[in-house]
Amino acid sequence: MLRLSNTLSGRIEPFQPLEPRQVKMYTCGPTVYDFVHIGNLRTFVFQDILKRYLRHKGFGVFHVMNITDVDDKTIRNSEAQTIAQLKTFTDRFTQAFFEDCDRLGIEKPDRAVHATDHIDDMVALIRQLQSGGYTYEKDGSIYFRIESFEDYGKLAKLDREGIRAGARVDVDEYDKQDARDFVLWKAPKNGEPRWETPLGPGRPGWHIECSAMSMKYLGETFDLHCGAVDLIFPHHENEIAQSEAATAKPFVRYWVHGEHLIVDGEKMSKSKGNFFTLRDLLDKGIQPAAIRYALQSVPYKRQLNFTADAVRQAEASLQRLQDFRQRIETEALPRGADHELQSGCKAVLEKFEEAMDQDLNTAQALAAVFDWVRQVNTALAAGRVHDGDGSAILATMDRLNRVLPLWESEDSRLDPRIQSLIEQRSRARKARDFALADELRNRIFDLGYLVEDTKDGVRWKKR
Ligand code: AMP
Ligand code: ZN
Repeated sequence: MLRLSNTLSGRIEPFQPLEPRQVKMYTCGPTVYDFVHIGNLRTFVFQDILKRYLRHKGFGVFHVMNITDVDDKTIRNSEAQTIAQLKTFTDRFTQAFFEDCDRLGIEKPDRAVHATDHIDDMVALIRQLQSGGYTYEKDGSIYFRIESFEDYGKLAKLDREGIRAGARVDVDEYDKQDARDFVLWKAPKNGEPRWETPLGPGRPGWHIECSAMSMKYLGETFDLHCGAVDLIFPHHENEIAQSEAATAKPFVRYWVHGEHLIVDGEKMSKSKGNFFTLRDLLDKGIQPAAIRYALQSVPYKRQLNFTADAVRQAEASLQRLQDFRQRIETEALPRGADHELQSGCKAVLEKFEEAMDQDLNTAQALAAVFDWVRQVNTALAAGRVHDGDGSAILATMDRLNRVLPLWESEDSRLDPRIQSLIEQRSRARKARDFALADELRNRIFDLGYLVEDTKDGVRWKKR
């Protein structure tokens, strides 16, 4: 049985969704004011592994992710004065985000929901809080009075004594542990985008976005809510206050938070300037598969120190795995099957699951895979691997690959430059710019590849 660290209880607990075989999962998505950095991507990779593993265990997963396309940072960076200008700015980074996810093999959520498409839901939730007596108004802004919610602080384990009654905070993010009444609805400022609503003109605070959108798509109580540890306070603490004050029901059953990616001992972050994006790394010629490997090889509950050395090790590990696969695929194997190799395939899956069941211990799961690879390589050298074993071994790799992508598919073997040209061409076709699409096809052709448009999407092959 899968056991997960639950920040709410402070314990590692057996995971059991409300509906026996269906998991409802919400993850806080990116704030689309810039390209995401690889610290952000570490968190999205951990959530992807969790989702894939839940499926491997036989659960259906319904995954909703928000796109924060209105908050202090998007407004500051865009310098937008209207909603339309803000949207033009954020759309570009939303698209870039999904491209980055795609390169790293992070699956799309079932629903990616934009905050700006849900202002009405947020307004309705704030009105519900108003009628429950949880709010007050000051200068056109509406605040949540944390004193009115008895459980405030239960996620972040805040000391109730430390809560500053009556102190207000207007910004979306603030210092750890400094609990204050937070803003639900912000009065309009000159020259900022605003919505005209029954609450008056203005825009939502960041926290209300996630309460409104998660409950809309997943119900008032749902199974899993994830993010990195920096979201525990204030963001997730405030989400609990808003949601539970409104519904009087438990909001989320398992809160699962990943540790940070760090560089030189410090959290990678935009504000510190110590960050790089996926694009920065790809431009240096690092393969996306190596980055994915480096991000998934450290269990999510441990900090991940991102270094050039870690990337080199990831490249070497992937190469070993790839060589192994190639030998199994291409060597002429004698007919028959070997009992020991067949049970080895079962054993590696068992050990892999045993490790993943323990709060997604990916390091231990990978160690089991490498042990197995070593055993099979020894058997290969001794001529003990038969054709029947070969197909069992390939099938085992495919099963492992669905949880932790390790063996490259044809797609990820493609040079990122060509991949990007193919994507540009698809966009051109969508925009009905056929002249540009043809020109891109020719450039791709000159680089040695043919692209075809089929009913299942774009295909490519080597000339
Ligand atoms: P943001 O776009 O800032 O809302 O962040 C998107 C996700 O990345 C959130 O789950 C954050 O908690 C997470 N995150 C931010 N910095 C890091 C980091 N250095 N390592 C891991 N996750 C991070
Ligand atoms: Zn959120």
